[in-house]
Amino acid sequence: MDLNFTAEETAFREQVRSFMQEKLPADIRKKVLGGLIVERDDYVRWQRILHEQGWGAPAWPQQFGGTGWNATQQYIFEEESAAAGAPRAVPFGLKMVAPVIMAFGSPAQQQRFLPKILAAEEWWCQGYSEPGAGSDLASLKMRAVREGNEYVLNGQKTWTTLGQYADWIFCLVRTDFEAKAQRGISFLLVKMDTPGITVRPIITMDGAHEVNEVYFENVRVPVENLIGEENKGWTYAKFLLGHERTNIAGIGIAKRELGRLKRVALQEQKNGKPLLKDPLFAARVAQVEVDLTALEITNLRVLSAEAEHRAPGPEASILKIKGTEIQQAITELLTQAVGPYALQLRREAMAAGYQGEHIGPDYATPLAAGYLNMRKLSIYGGSNEIQKNIISQMILGL
Ligand SMILES: Cc1cc2nc3c(=O)[nH]c(=O)nc-3n(C[C@H](O)[C@H](O)[C@H](O)COP(=O)(O)OP(=O)(O)OC[C@H]3O[C@@H](n4cnc5c(N)ncnc54)[C@H](O)[C@@H]3O)c2cc1C
Repeated sequence: MDLNFTAEETAFREQVRSFMQEKLPADIRKKVLGGLIVERDDYVRWQRILHEQGWGAPAWPQQFGGTGWNATQQYIFEEESAAAGAPRAVPFGLKMVAPVIMAFGSPAQQQRFLPKILAAEEWWCQGYSEPGAGSDLASLKMRAVREGNEYVLNGQKTWTTLGQYADWIFCLVRTDFEAKAQRGISFLLVKMDTPGITVRPIITMDGAHEVNEVYFENVRVPVENLIGEENKGWTYAKFLLGHERTNIAGIGIAKRELGRLKRVALQEQKNGKPLLKDPLFAARVAQVEVDLTALEITNLRVLSAEAEHRAPGPEASILKIKGTEIQQAITELLTQAVGPYALQLRREAMAAGYQGEHIGPDYATPLAAGYLNMRKLSIYGGSNEIQKNIISQMILGL
């Protein structure tokens, strides 16, 4: 196992870095690096710039318009993107439903959906969770009853991230009501403007409108929007979750945010000295940095295994737990660094064009919202407790 980057990989990193310097719009970079609100159009604009460069889908094979990059190149790309202040790719189209369509969709579905995902012409959201079906996803209740060439959908999805912007939702629905939990589930693609769909916002504790409830009342969906076979949706759903988890560790983002933490802690004062020189605070920052370095090595080991064509297994759960714990720890330290200024929760002051006064230093303004928002990391994509169950069974054999 060789964990060092090769000369080609280092050259690739340079190429990505100079692309980011040249092509990442300054206004978007400012929002991401400042922790300000990133809008729908920022995500779309950046995806289109990447697409123009041929880098719209780092993880897709070339036959579908992807880069064909190996896992290490993808990792380098993610790391450089985060460091430069590029917005994180919205995962629902590119990283979730697209791999499912490639693996299990018909050629007609591949031609219909993949190019529009790549070019950011259609926005997707994920309709898995329901009230009462989160960790225990297989207990989902949304019904799809076949009538001729259509399914008729009734039920509710929840926590639907950025569903307010979506053109399409991929849904897990129950098509066999007698079969055992996992067996009667199908995977359907549903157009969001179909009559009978209602999207209601859920405002989270950071004051953001990021998630939604989506209601389905007699929503008619053509049978051609079924992925693969009826009642085999659980297989496709699990395939997608594997992709989702390996994406959440966010090492590049954690490195960038650690840099921000150090800058803030150098500006904040304690007993007439920069906070970062305070031994207790410095030790806590160091602990996060040590954990992050260890996680990075673990991640490189997973990549090295992938290069030898071994699929990432339960170790994806380790990456998810440690990656999210580290990201959360950084937001905690950031709020502690600015003390009482972290008590403010003023979304209007987090908009890029805000002209009003800041309470305390301007870098303190978005920290409370960031801290609160990042609590989600240990819940979604399979909660960290569920990941621990996977580790105990699959790695420790308990
Ligand atoms: C901000 C955010 C965005 C989300 N976006 C989406 C989205 O776009 N689409 C979508 O479909 N879903 C989304 N989700 C839903 C997410 O996947 C679920 O919240 C998650 O699976 C947990 O389910 P739950 O909320 O129903 O909690 P529950 O499953 O009810 O769990 C409650 C608590 O019990 C623990 N627990 C449950 N079962 C076990 C067990 N067997 N062993 C040990 N502990 C257990 C959990 O870890 C958790 O702490 C999002 C969630 C959040 C918070």
